[in-house]
Amino acid sequence: MKIIITEFMDERAVAQLAAKHDVVYDPKLVDKPAELLEAAATCHAIIVRNRTQVRGDLLAALKSCKVVGRLGVGLDNIDVPACEAAGMKVIPATGANALSVAEYVIASAMLLLRGTFASTPEVAAGKWPRNALSNGRETAGKTLGIIGFGSIGQLTGKLAKALAMNVIAYDPVMKSDAPAFAQVGAKAATLDEVIASADVVTLHVPLVDGTRGLFNAQRIAAMKPGSILINTSRGHIVDVAAVAASLKAGHLGGAALDVFDTEPMPAEPMFEGCPSLILTPHISGVTYEGNERVSFMIAEKVLEALQ
Ligand code: NAD
Repeated sequence: MKIIITEFMDERAVAQLAAKHDVVYDPKLVDKPAELLEAAATCHAIIVRNRTQVRGDLLAALKSCKVVGRLGVGLDNIDVPACEAAGMKVIPATGANALSVAEYVIASAMLLLRGTFASTPEVAAGKWPRNALSNGRETAGKTLGIIGFGSIGQLTGKLAKALAMNVIAYDPVMKSDAPAFAQVGAKAATLDEVIASADVVTLHVPLVDGTRGLFNAQRIAAMKPGSILINTSRGHIVDVAAVAASLKAGHLGGAALDVFDTEPMPAEPMFEGCPSLILTPHISGVTYEGNERVSFMIAEKVLEALQ
């Protein structure tokens, strides 16, 4: 059978697929619409990351396809109901990159709370900004507010507890006595409570109608003065212009943004001069180990689905 892979995948996992099936692996296929549609027309499985939009023309072209493997977890780039209606099984790599994201969140939180790690150019140039950097904050004892207490949210909570942080979490789908809260040592809270009381707020929700625009200017203004906002979930959930304005106004104490409304994000002058801002190109879930786990999980599940 024929498998097409439209974005990057660990080459050893690709070889595992190629040992049993015809594989077309082109990490840039996502950027070549005509070639992608041609390859899709005869494939039995398609494997994508987050950039390939499995809907519209591509979905219509997948006439013989039985399975859509997703090298990651967010499914907002896949029209899942339409795929299922067309007889395709959609398989995400549930949990496989959760640790990579959780570590990114903790690292960003510690860097931004402490605020002392951007001094390399000044120190190398013989300046000694010791006074200016003497007000960094410790992580222990601070409150981490988790919005979306699923697989990544819970793992992030566990790492935070190991650093002696207080952890509170909001998830509208989970009851406040769900075992996950006790297992992590987190307190269930409302959205407003998390926003008002957390020193660091981190988002781990899917992009759906209920989360689109969730962190708008009003909610950012309601966050504690000096608090930190971390978004590794999806673009469209946080108003990044409001984040930039809040950082410049000195209300937010820091922000780490890994995901954007448009990716790749074009040059954005609004971020110029923003203090305590970390911008990364949608890589919080992508590490050597995370990519290996995601790739082998999807290779194995796609092989199983094609049997
Ligand atoms: P998950 O399904 O395990 O958890 C998501 C949680 O969000 C669930 O518990 C759900 O009940 C909750 N939720 C749904 N609607 C909500 C709302 N309106 N408010 C608050 N909570 C809500 O998913 P996960 O594996 O933890 O991943 C979370 C998201 O992180 C994914 O959907 C994906 O978009 C994103 N992600 C990004 C990267 C990256 O590299 N930046 C990597 C992995 C995942």
